[in-house]
Amino acid sequence: AQDLFSIFHSRSIAAPDAPFLILPELGVITYAQAVARSGQMANLFRAAGVKPGDRIAVQVEKSADALLTYLAALRIGAVYLPLNTAYTAAEVRFFLSDATPALFIHRPEDEAAMAALCADLGIAARLTLGQSGEGSLPAGADAQEAQADIHPVAMDDLAAILYTSGTTGRSKGAMLTQGNLASNSATLKDYWRFTEGDVLLHALPIFHTHGLFVATNITITAGSAIILCSKFDVRELIRLMPRATVLMGVPTFYSRLLNEGDFTRELVTHMRLFVSGSAPLSAETHKEFSARTGHAILERYGMTETNMNTSNPYEGDRVPGSVGFPLPGVELRIADPETGESLPQGEVGVIEVRGPNVFKGYWQLPEKTAEELRENGFFITGDLGVIDDRGYVSIVGRAKDLIICGGFNVYPAEVEALIDAIPGIAESAVIGIPHKDMGEGVVAVVQARDAALDEAAVLGAIAGDLARFKQPRRVIFLPELPRNTMGKIQKKALRETYADLFA
Ligand code: ATP
Ligand code: MG
Repeated sequence: AQDLFSIFHSRSIAAPDAPFLILPELGVITYAQAVARSGQMANLFRAAGVKPGDRIAVQVEKSADALLTYLAALRIGAVYLPLNTAYTAAEVRFFLSDATPALFIHRPEDEAAMAALCADLGIAARLTLGQSGEGSLPAGADAQEAQADIHPVAMDDLAAILYTSGTTGRSKGAMLTQGNLASNSATLKDYWRFTEGDVLLHALPIFHTHGLFVATNITITAGSAIILCSKFDVRELIRLMPRATVLMGVPTFYSRLLNEGDFTRELVTHMRLFVSGSAPLSAETHKEFSARTGHAILERYGMTETNMNTSNPYEGDRVPGSVGFPLPGVELRIADPETGESLPQGEVGVIEVRGPNVFKGYWQLPEKTAEELRENGFFITGDLGVIDDRGYVSIVGRAKDLIICGGFNVYPAEVEALIDAIPGIAESAVIGIPHKDMGEGVVAVVQARDAALDEAAVLGAIAGDLARFKQPRRVIFLPELPRNTMGKIQKKALRETYADLFA
């Protein structure tokens, strides 16, 4: 198997003029130009003192140069470490002191704060990169030669440290190898039938596994092109859709598109594929999307630590509410959370995965690694799931979100699916709140489209379909559910807000 930079480089020789990045309003960057730019950056990074195995931490807005810092890091055998642009200086302090990078690339406007922080932490080299091409990185790269040695890597070498989203607790740095990234992109390229002619509409952030690895690595592996949007803007997606063949999004992309009257079947007849992931796509959105466009969204399941684990099929049923089958080469089992024993088909348990996609461990957290990565190679995902008789995997919630009410397990996804199907409900989050008699009480937090819906109407609509102990005791209406940048509902924040509901 070949590492990603070698694949990228080969493509630039075989098809130098093929488009790699299409920048709305700004033109096209070909494979040859992108490889040349990575060479200029590689020389700049080396001149700044970066050696193979050193971390390069990056907190910048999305742009072509921002994406190319990833490829330049691969070129010199450095370990790429992207950071969420929303992190504050205090949060960045934690990540930088944890990861001790040799180089930190940040926004020009953060100069004062980051200069002080790096001085404090002893980080020797800094570069700045702004969204419109300003900063010391682009200027410095412009002055360098495009020719730069490609550091030979082994599949077991670290390629990146990617911090998890911090949905369930403090973010952990997942150590991903060259082999983790290359194997997963090769698998997905085939599974999703990517070819050179594909054009991926890219509106995801590039500090997360979805937008950075799934999108970019598949593109490189297929030799195809990306339309790089600077951010998610539903009007911009609709405007650019005619130039694309594939869209990858989080569920919010799809619910927002459906809110637009001019998002029609005609607009997307030429599209080949719509992929969703990072958070659960409601069966309602899936069905509404199919009815409107004739396209069944392909939902897949993955995580920072493992890249992608499962996917609905390219051909065959893409089942609403399911994340499909384990990918080729990925073993998936459902285990008893207490004993770790495999459970029979049809029972709910913790999803564990093993394969060339599974990370090496958490950066500087050997105990956490030992807790979640079994010696036999299985990674304990922390997601609860079940496999149906056709082999489709469904996620019923995270182990940490499991509600135990009067000694009985309540899986949030089951209750959410019923609530989401009520006409007039936009979406829901079902959580457990401490309750003195029951241990936890089930609470539904909902966003309604129909202002006339009230608690009694919601409870009445699902009463016949749900065992008494699973029925919410309270329904709380919010104008919008709290989400992070990846579209994940922040259940931890909701539990904190309503902690005293039954007190
Ligand atoms: P942390 O691990 O720090 O608490 P996180 O798990 O949200 O945060 P990520 O690695 O970004 O960090 O997200 C992976 C998680 O996202 C999975 O474990 C799963 O819970 C969820 N997820 C991803 N894809 C899907 C999907 N298609 N359906 C349901 N959940 C999904
Ligand atoms: Mg996680």
